[in-house]
Amino acid sequence: METHELTKRYGQLVAVDKVSLTVRPGEVYGFLGPNGAGKTTTLRMLLGLVRPSAGTVRLFGKDIAQSLGDVGALIEGPAFYPYLSGRDNLRVLARYAGCPAGRVGLVLDLVDLTDRAGDRYGTYSLGMKQRLGVAAALLKDPKLLILDEPTNGLDPAGMADMRRLIRRLGAAGKTVLLSSHMLGEVQQICDRVGVVSGGRLIAESTVAELRGGARLRVVADPLD
Ligand code: ATP
Repeated sequence: METHELTKRYGQLVAVDKVSLTVRPGEVYGFLGPNGAGKTTTLRMLLGLVRPSAGTVRLFGKDIAQSLGDVGALIEGPAFYPYLSGRDNLRVLARYAGCPAGRVGLVLDLVDLTDRAGDRYGTYSLGMKQRLGVAAALLKDPKLLILDEPTNGLDPAGMADMRRLIRRLGAAGKTVLLSSHMLGEVQQICDRVGVVSGGRLIAESTVAELRGGARLRVVADPLD
């Protein structure tokens, strides 16, 4: 997945400013920045939900329009039917998306919800709801999984479960792009990190380099 000088302006405000980002196959990339830095807007452009003011997105060598089937995302609080079980919610989505029925059991296993799959969605904790959202995003077995602040609002146990899940997906070779405002989280679960501030990608590094005490590599001057 690559973007080239991806930009989004809202009137005078430059929400995303010439972001050139590459996520390599098989890596877990952490898009790190404070609230308002432009993370969600960038992710929404990758998904074709927001039209860029300038710049380009290529997913697996193709334009967005041709590649959306290759991407799964959890970008807003997932919308499920509260009175249906987790499993039945996924069955509905699988039918819509034309996925083989067997995928439902598989993704429930992946997100560790098999034991609670028969319970009504409305009884799930927030962490379980988020994990079911990840399961829904995985139904099509996408090449790229995009997660917008997947641990936001979760209690410590929910956060730990979600981080373990992302690490498992990464270890299984899934390409993941996730946003976060917590450096510690990104260091725990990602292979590479990009820091976004004021709409600009200002620094990038591998997590291994950071662990070794290296500083983030500055790729743009935040004050330019
Ligand atoms: P958060 O973690 O709070 O979602 P973020 O890093 O994802 O933060 P964005 O939501 O992408 O940041 O917002 C970047 C900037 O663009 C903010 O200043 C925000 O107010 C502005 N913005 C986002 N969407 C719109 C919109 N539809 N109209 C006007 N301004 C917007």
